[in-house]
Amino acid sequence: MKKEEKKLTAAELPIGGIIEAGTAVNFHTGSWRSERPVWNKEKCINCLVCWISCPDSSIKVVPDERKTSIIAGIDYDHCKGCGICAKECPPKVKAIVMEQERK
Ligand code: SF4
Ligand code: SF4
Repeated sequence: MKKEEKKLTAAELPIGGIIEAGTAVNFHTGSWRSERPVWNKEKCINCLVCWISCPDSSIKVVPDERKTSIIAGIDYDHCKGCGICAKECPPKVKAIVMEQERK
């Protein structure tokens, strides 16, 4: 006969591990990418759609002389090559295209 397990109350549950936020910045997590986004500065209209869409915070922004955020390129150390930025860049602009990753 199966022994009945005692159900724990919330107060009796062991405390889980807490991992510090932002630790991925210490590692190059983009090394297994098969495609890379290539940004064209001349075509870019700085709408920031790619920046807000990137799940890995890999679109780099810097302030311009008016303190407005502008795109500064791609952080290839952390970009996974998912292609969301290229997909979300306005079709009439197409300032990001995906290319085969270089070896
Ligand atoms: S390919 Fe994906 S991870 Fe890389 S910059 Fe674009 S949205 Fe971010
Ligand atoms: S979505 Fe395209 S046009 Fe908009 S900021 Fe990004 S690269 Fe530039």
